[in-house]
Amino acid sequence: MNCTKNDAYILPPEANILVMSGFSGVGKGTVCNLLKEQLVKGKPIEIIRSITNRMPRFVGENYTFVTKQQFADYVSKNLLLEYNDDYSSCGYGTPIWEVESALVAGKIPLLEIDYVGLQKLLTQGKVNPSSIKSVFIAASAEDITMRLCGRGTESDKEILKRLQRSIDEANHLDLYDAIIINHNIADTVEAVINVFEGNPSKNLFDAVRFKTDMEKVLATYSHDSMEMTF
Ligand code: 5GP
Repeated sequence: MNCTKNDAYILPPEANILVMSGFSGVGKGTVCNLLKEQLVKGKPIEIIRSITNRMPRFVGENYTFVTKQQFADYVSKNLLLEYNDDYSSCGYGTPIWEVESALVAGKIPLLEIDYVGLQKLLTQGKVNPSSIKSVFIAASAEDITMRLCGRGTESDKEILKRLQRSIDEANHLDLYDAIIINHNIADTVEAVINVFEGNPSKNLFDAVRFKTDMEKVLATYSHDSMEMTF
């Protein structure tokens, strides 16, 4: 792959960059694992390993875990293509070298990042915005609440934060090329690949309804117990 840079961008302007975001608990990890085996425009996908200073949740997470100080150092040395440190106690970021090495290996980098990261990629002039294809994986308010509560990897407080954040995320769906509802994993993977290949996708996700439903979930969510009303 020709990785010569032009003056305007950090990465070659023709290099395809894939972005996937989604509500917490929507099943992004499973989708990512299956995407690893797929080709886009004849090239294999490489899932980019972000850095984070949050606590590890389970063995085998696709992150490089760093301290808060190390995270700040990466930021100050401009080693991240984008990052979001607005999370209350932690930050997440995409190391430039991870993306570059995927491109040099002839692979297509897939960034599993949030909408703040996508917004930065689209506006900060580090990459060519027209080289980005992005999808947001969605599900109903009920589904993501059930999955987040059921997986048992976050505290009640953390679950609440993630459910609250989903409303903010639902307000930023216009940034994405496509919104894909994760009804079943095989269809979701196929739909994601389709968008990454550059094909248009019909948006069947009702963000207004999602927000109304999620407000109801949050209103009935007891701070003292994890009991939900459905
Ligand atoms: P989690 O703690 O569930 O692994 O991730 C929390 C959020 O951080 C998710 O929305 C995930 O997409 C986002 N995230 C993970 N890595 C990055 C990154 O490198 N940059 C940005 N902006 N967001 C990330």
